[in-house]
Amino acid sequence: MNPDRAYFDHSATTPVDPGVLERMIPYFSEEFGNPSSVHVFGQRAEAAISEARSTIAGALGSQPGEIVFTANGTESDNIALRGTAKAARAKRGANHLLISPVEHEAIHKTAALLQEEGFDLEFLPVDSFGRVSPDTVADRIRPDTALVSIMYANNEVGTLNSIASIGRICNSADVPLHTDAVQAATYLSLDVDHLGVDTLALSAHKFYGPKGIGVLFHRRGTPLGPLLAGGDQEHGMRPGTENTPFIVGAAYALTLASEKRDREVPRLIALRDRLIEGVLEGVPDARLTGHPSERLPNHASFVFPGIDGNQLLAALDLEGFACSSGSACKTGDPEPSRVLRQLGFGDSLALGALRVTLGRSNTIGQVDRFLDVLPTVIARLRLQRQPTS
Ligand SMILES: *Cc1c(COP(=O)(O)O)cnc(C)c1O
Repeated sequence: MNPDRAYFDHSATTPVDPGVLERMIPYFSEEFGNPSSVHVFGQRAEAAISEARSTIAGALGSQPGEIVFTANGTESDNIALRGTAKAARAKRGANHLLISPVEHEAIHKTAALLQEEGFDLEFLPVDSFGRVSPDTVADRIRPDTALVSIMYANNEVGTLNSIASIGRICNSADVPLHTDAVQAATYLSLDVDHLGVDTLALSAHKFYGPKGIGVLFHRRGTPLGPLLAGGDQEHGMRPGTENTPFIVGAAYALTLASEKRDREVPRLIALRDRLIEGVLEGVPDARLTGHPSERLPNHASFVFPGIDGNQLLAALDLEGFACSSGSACKTGDPEPSRVLRQLGFGDSLALGALRVTLGRSNTIGQVDRFLDVLPTVIARLRLQRQPTS
């Protein structure tokens, strides 16, 4: 790859850390046993999974028995929502779902399906940054609320929620709280007792682990049914032969992320703020989306009036910058972002979105080069859109 090319799309995915890859490799070949087998091959795989589970439990301040390995963040969100909603309905007749309106599709679409199955879906109000206020949760929560689901950090605009405050409200109402912590995992505390969550979703490829492996924290005692029927792997919550190399990789990636956090967070905040200031100063009418300070350390997001986001991405790609318009799932989708519309941006502004998400490989030199290039690219695109007279 061109060394001048800057990868600015770490919210979409991250590269696998070389140390993580190295730890995974033996589990594809020499250590290939089925963890359910009785013989020594099985025992060795089982031991590796058990160690990975303890590592992840350590990072979350939970018990190993509360950690379920899944296929990805999407599956963790699906199991948490469906499993909790159905168990709450069966156990206490609870039918009400209270959900933030700016969740990732993995939550948003699962909630919509549950609504089709008769659940009463209520979206919480959010402010113009995408934050849910704990007070509105306290106002809207009901004895028949089956679950509350609010993301820790927003993937499109980077805004953080006060999950710990919301957790206290849900706990005193005895209603399970789910948080999608997929974007937060690299940078924020995942202490599940501090957060007061009952279920929490992670995805390894967002924290320098492999794609295709997710984690679901499931607090003991929170009723939750499995989605799939099969063997009794993952406490019966997620049957199917475990993906040993990916589980080992996910655990080590999370360890590395927490080890690097103290150094990376201040470094990325400095780069992010330099980038945000530079864009707001250098590009006429640029607007920041999401919260100015309560946002992910690596996340900068904007809208530019008079710009087509997809054209902007293509032009930046030619200049050597890999960015996104918001959510990776929207690539090539001409629909304005549901999240930006929810935050009060009109269709034409919502179509001119740019998301720059930094990571381990990014340098101040790359940020400065970006700040040089972006105003020119935007001016050119705006000029092209002017009707010729
Ligand atoms: C990426 C992402 C997901 C989905 O994770 P996958 O592992 O890609 O399925 C869910 N929620 C958020 C907030 C994300 O950013």
